[in-house]
Amino acid sequence: MHKVVIIGSGPAGLTAALYCARANLAPLVVEGIQAGGQLTLTTDVENYPGFPQGIMGPQLMTDMREQAARFGTEFLTEDVTAVNLKTRPFTITIAEKPEIETQTVIVSTGATALMLNIDSEQQYLGQGVSTCATCDGAFFKEKELIVVGGGDSAMEEGTFLTKFASTVTIVHRRNTLRASKIMQERAFRNEKVKFIWDSVVEEVYGDGVVQGVKLRNLKTTELTDKPCSGVFIAIGHTPTTTLFVDQLDMDPQGYLLTHDGTKTNIPGVFAAGDVQDHVYRQAVTAAGSGCMAAIDVERFLEQEAH
Ligand code: NAP
Repeated sequence: MHKVVIIGSGPAGLTAALYCARANLAPLVVEGIQAGGQLTLTTDVENYPGFPQGIMGPQLMTDMREQAARFGTEFLTEDVTAVNLKTRPFTITIAEKPEIETQTVIVSTGATALMLNIDSEQQYLGQGVSTCATCDGAFFKEKELIVVGGGDSAMEEGTFLTKFASTVTIVHRRNTLRASKIMQERAFRNEKVKFIWDSVVEEVYGDGVVQGVKLRNLKTTELTDKPCSGVFIAIGHTPTTTLFVDQLDMDPQGYLLTHDGTKTNIPGVFAAGDVQDHVYRQAVTAAGSGCMAAIDVERFLEQEAH
């Protein structure tokens, strides 16, 4: 039986693995078939401390994995298909493999940014299409940008991006915003923020990097061209928590609820990273909470042993 199994291999999971491995807990990371989390989908990461020249997202994740492996972390490149956290030892199921038994679990399955589901957005992801203003805003100094969405995220990202951009145009599919009044007012007051209402992005185009979008007005059906250098999609995130429904407490959006650090409602099950954080969502905060989860596991096992 394992002392700790970590589900998910973004910055939270790999930092948890590093700390668990150095605490002699011999962690197993079930890293998923698409290992490495959201950072594997980005290019330059300029806000992870310790890399003054920045680092490519995939490289950062490779390095974190190597560092965790160096202290004895075991990896399984598979997707978890089911978990049973109701009785101990906890069990983790992977298709066509024997069940994994473990004394503790760290859930670090992350979250995924919702996308528009148009072909061209995938083509330009990392080449002008982004889902994180904090990560990528500084690449667009004095450029024209589009932000898609009408919620708090779109207002926050749009307002933030005016630090860099010449203008930020928020494209929303209705003519009223979903965002809270205070966030709306902040955006309305900002002279660099413009709005295009009742419209959706139908295509992102460019020549290797983004040069503009084609917008469809949903009321008139008119198609217009809007040149821009970047498209920030801020239509929400979805946490990866389907596996834990009816076992772990979640908020209405499906984010895991934690208390006293990284504890979930089940003693011995901890959660770290974006799966329990819809506020900060940064690689460095995810890594920090991964470290906390590992320390919480270590203390939990020590207390049980006594
Ligand atoms: P959200 O509130 O769900 O808003 C998503 C927005 O994107 C909505 O305006 C929605 O349009 C639009 N949208 C959804 N799917 C779309 C699609 N396929 N094409 C075009 N537009 C689409 O998500 P969020 O803004 O990320 O906020 C999530 C939660 O985090 C909220 O509770 C929010 O208050 C909170 N949050 C708080 C802060 C803060 O307080 N600082 C910052 C960010 C987020 P419709 O309006 O037409 O549905």
